[in-house]
Amino acid sequence: MKYFKETLYDAVCQEFRVDKMYFEQKTEHQHLMIFHNAMLGRVMTLDGIVQTTEADEFMYHEMLTHVPILAHGAVKKLLIIGGGDGGILREVLKHESIDVTQVEIDKAVIDMAIEYLPKHSDSAYDNPRANIVIDDGMAFVKNCSEKFDVIIVDGTDPIGPGEVLFTEDFYAQCKNCLNEGGVIVTQNGVPFLQIEEVKNTYQRLNQHYTDATFYTVAVPTYYGGLMTLAWATNNAELRNVSLDTLEQRFKSANLNSRYYNPAIHLAAFALPQYIVNQLD
Ligand code: SAM
Repeated sequence: MKYFKETLYDAVCQEFRVDKMYFEQKTEHQHLMIFHNAMLGRVMTLDGIVQTTEADEFMYHEMLTHVPILAHGAVKKLLIIGGGDGGILREVLKHESIDVTQVEIDKAVIDMAIEYLPKHSDSAYDNPRANIVIDDGMAFVKNCSEKFDVIIVDGTDPIGPGEVLFTEDFYAQCKNCLNEGGVIVTQNGVPFLQIEEVKNTYQRLNQHYTDATFYTVAVPTYYGGLMTLAWATNNAELRNVSLDTLEQRFKSANLNSRYYNPAIHLAAFALPQYIVNQLD
């Protein structure tokens, strides 16, 4: 029986039994694998690191989308960087007022996710409100003349093509692509094992945004407990939206969510002290 062994860390790792291999290939940018596991459903890995599983993807995709969208309350244009599996795109398109541009560096991830991980995108790539661009997210924001209300960075870990998405220059360029009062949120690793990502991201965001912080979600297959999602905006009001207002927006959005709700939205910004200690 074959096992997938995650290679993100040297001293600790997790293994998933490979019950059926759907796809394995070195694409132009990274090593892509999609396989089935009896407990997790279909699993996607890139360069030996778990990206997403059918069993727990909803937790991550709902929190990285509905928190900024419902906090903002009037999103018309949204930019996704990365997100090739389509889970972020699927959740964003549930908000009918939003037009989405998604910039993904590796077309093979989209193509193979549509074929072998179909529940993630759930036909979102066919939606007329979705504009898909195959490009490096950094190159796109550097040359972008459009502006967006929300930017969601659903990148890999800062290894390989994903590394540039954690740089100060990238965050500065994203600011130029944000409308007045807009917000950027990003995948920012598991602080218990990647605390330097919190420290580095905070210092970099703080140079360009007046309200930089994190919120959290615990995704079982992102090994090590809580995951931090970075939040940065020049509109402090976005984090002062009341529970009542969020409840109203949540109700009218009719999301049928399985993880997100307004109470957990607000609670997610309450950070453990070991993370707060990095935010000086
Ligand atoms: N949720 C996952 C996580 O937290 O690790 C990430 C999922 S998604 C598969 C990550 C996507 O980022 C991949 O499709 C990868 O191709 C894309 N990506 C990596 N570097 C990129 C870059 N510089 N520009 C655009 N997309 C990039």
